[in-house]
Amino acid sequence: MPDKNRYKHRPVLHWVVLLSFIIGGIGFGGWQAMVHPDTPLPPEWNPVQPLSVGDPLTSLTQWKLTRALGSAATCLAALETGAQIERKPDFVETSRCGITPQVSLSSAGGASVAPVNTRCQTALRLAMWTQHALQPAAQDLFGQDISQINHFSSYSCRPMRTASGNSSRMSSHATADAIDVSGFVLDDGTRLSLLRDWSGDTAKSAFLKRANDSACDWFRLTLGPRYNRLHADHFHLQHTGYGLCR
Ligand SMILES: [Zn+2]
Repeated sequence: MPDKNRYKHRPVLHWVVLLSFIIGGIGFGGWQAMVHPDTPLPPEWNPVQPLSVGDPLTSLTQWKLTRALGSAATCLAALETGAQIERKPDFVETSRCGITPQVSLSSAGGASVAPVNTRCQTALRLAMWTQHALQPAAQDLFGQDISQINHFSSYSCRPMRTASGNSSRMSSHATADAIDVSGFVLDDGTRLSLLRDWSGDTAKSAFLKRANDSACDWFRLTLGPRYNRLHADHFHLQHTGYGLCR
């Protein structure tokens, strides 16, 4: 006796198969559009194109940044699109101190930096912050670019400093996962210092506050003058951490 139920489900099956072809076709077409060398898809919207620091921001940027930060090779490739660096061999000082992968950074996001040995990941976040937050803010407030970023270095094999003394934990500086930025210089030579210019109702103060707030978009942990007196003269900008921004 024939099983009538076998035929009852056929219309459903038909639609399932048809829909699969349509979705599969769109998926295949989409994939072709992304990987084709002459794709009309701009790189900043193309998920198969790696992060380039100068690309306009899109809803894919943070995802691409996370991917770029994931390995030495992807980080170095991305960093070289928006910074001047010298690749250096991995540096190991003790079991808890070292820099991997190490670069000597001398410019980021169009601003020069006194050469500093740091981790690629810290440098890449600095380049993204400079390119996409500092430069637009400087154009807004001063009509010119930031030409220089001043810093108190990145690597230091030491314990974490707190307002109540040294902690037993190592500082993120022990692995160059952070950089301390103390101020900026504009194209016309105007100097902006956290210590001198943080307070007040000035364009310099407005710039520094925007720099502090926007750092949170590009670093995982940021501390500044609002946090405690240890940070009155610099922003502590950290690649690792849990989204603490003060
Ligand atoms: Zn610091």
